Amino acid sequence: MNPKLSRHGLWLCVLFAAAQTSAQIPDLSTWTVHDPDRPQPPIVTPGTMGSAPSDAVVLFDGSDLSQWQHRDGSDASWSVMNGFMEVTEGAILTRQSFGDMQLHIEWATPNSGDGQNSGNSGVYLMNTYEVQVLNSYANVTYPDGQAGSIYGQYPPLVNASRPPGEWQSYDIIFRRPHFDDDGNVVTPARVTVLHNGVLVQDNVVLTGPTGHRNRPPYKAHADALPILLQDHNEPTRYRNIWVRSL
Ligand code: MG
Repeated sequence: MNPKLSRHGLWLCVLFAAAQTSAQIPDLSTWTVHDPDRPQPPIVTPGTMGSAPSDAVVLFDGSDLSQWQHRDGSDASWSVMNGFMEVTEGAILTRQSFGDMQLHIEWATPNSGDGQNSGNSGVYLMNTYEVQVLNSYANVTYPDGQAGSIYGQYPPLVNASRPPGEWQSYDIIFRRPHFDDDGNVVTPARVTVLHNGVLVQDNVVLTGPTGHRNRPPYKAHADALPILLQDHNEPTRYRNIWVRSL
């Protein structure tokens, strides 16, 4: 064996190991959680939407909630009408569990309320990490809590919101966190989100689960968990929901 190549190989291994261990959970302390002084994302006007590919698991096609249940395992009781479901009582979760995924979901908020009380709902990936659903069209709130935000962590890059009552879409690419046997984070979760076809989260590294007015640390969980849709006491609507496990 060529000793030069061998040393070169060794150095590559050292550098690779260093790169692995230098991956760290980001420090978001520049802005406090829900800081109202955090700059508002620029506003852009979004384009149009898409439908399920052949390899997707269709979670809601507008006809029934057979793929969904409440936390206690009872059948999902949200209203279904005219091809959409509407938040009524209690959060709903998918009966199936997912880890790494591509998720498409469409939603529309009511034209009522303001701030965090205007169509607030949310898509909780792995029942843990929330992509916020909110009317953010001419409705200002703290940037890390508006539509397209990773709630409490990252504002969207831009505000691609449509007006309340109009259908909007999220296309989400999620990479689950990995934990070692002791429950320590080996690889944090990552999320990319397109809101109405516009990139609003670009492979961001999550600091941990979604909290309210806090950023809780990671807590080890299963490799696959249900997707949850939040009930925030407002009649937000959903339709055309499909997921592809990655
Ligand atoms: Mg929410």
